[in-house]
Amino acid sequence: MQLARFPRRRYTPGPTPIERMDHLSRHLGGADLYVKRDDLLGLTAGGNKTRKLEFLVADALARGADTLITVGAVQSNHCRLTAAAAVKEGMKCRLVLEQRVAGSYRPDASGNNFLFDLLGVEKITVVDAGEDLNAAMNKEMQALAAEGRTGYIVPGGGSNAIGSLGYVACAEEILQQGFDMGVAFDRVVVASGSGGTHAGLLVGFNSNSAGAPITGINVRRPSAEQTANIQALTAQIAENAGVAAVPPEAVVCRDEWVGPGYSLPTDEMVEAVRMFAALEGILLDPVYTGKAAAGLIGLVRAGEIARDERVLFIHTGGSPALYAYQEILRGGSTQ
Ligand SMILES: *Cc1c(COP(=O)(O)O)cnc(C)c1O
Repeated sequence: MQLARFPRRRYTPGPTPIERMDHLSRHLGGADLYVKRDDLLGLTAGGNKTRKLEFLVADALARGADTLITVGAVQSNHCRLTAAAAVKEGMKCRLVLEQRVAGSYRPDASGNNFLFDLLGVEKITVVDAGEDLNAAMNKEMQALAAEGRTGYIVPGGGSNAIGSLGYVACAEEILQQGFDMGVAFDRVVVASGSGGTHAGLLVGFNSNSAGAPITGINVRRPSAEQTANIQALTAQIAENAGVAAVPPEAVVCRDEWVGPGYSLPTDEMVEAVRMFAALEGILLDPVYTGKAAAGLIGLVRAGEIARDERVLFIHTGGSPALYAYQEILRGGSTQ
């Protein structure tokens, strides 16, 4: 694959580390667990959107944009990183925040919300769940045009055929690192939200005939819906990258760890966040990686992941959101 054909900005100097999680593996009695530290990617406080923004912002600049417009939840990591990319490029940033949980926006909230302000976001528009998000972003595009400025709409989560190239590239990075380490991963476990991470990895592994099954742990949608979304997105990414389509049956989504809904806490999430911190010194987040890690732990305990499997957990970032969930996470129960 020739990813070099696509314009790209660089926000991280090199590959993110892959670390072995010895204490967690021992605590669970297997499997052989590793973590890809994408929480250490570049831009403010890292996380998976940095990889997507390398391709999306390059596209925005090629189109002469001076302002990035995007959408996310009230504690959106994607919005934080889009704002950070704008700072890095000398651009402006406008956000549309969706209250996926009614009444969840508080202007004085901590976590990512506090960082939107520090990163100099020019304008925040808050909308309710179910409102037309594209219409809200298009309104900003038009307002900018009226001022002689040029906006660029970054899709929610950066998950389109351009942004997802970041995770096609990440799959190639993982294969190279596995080769250097002498480790052939049997399985990859990753959070599945807007889907660009999950789908990009699928396209990248498939186009390298790498065969590692990828288990997506849903953070929002039921599996039937998420599977269809990921299948559609892999088709778009593969077409854009000019590589083979991913077989539909390779798309595996699990919804047992979503709990009552997107961003709403579960006991398993609290346990996973506390376990990763106490055993590995790694900060997860309450919305995505806490639930994805709960899925990893649950699949190991249930024996669905075999004791001798070498498993790579993708740490997609998000730790700033921890500070907006302190009461829930403090002194929670953990075995
Ligand atoms: C956005 C996000 C995800 C989900 O990635 P998608 O590509 O949207 O599926 C996972 N973890 C964190 C921390 C995120 O911010």
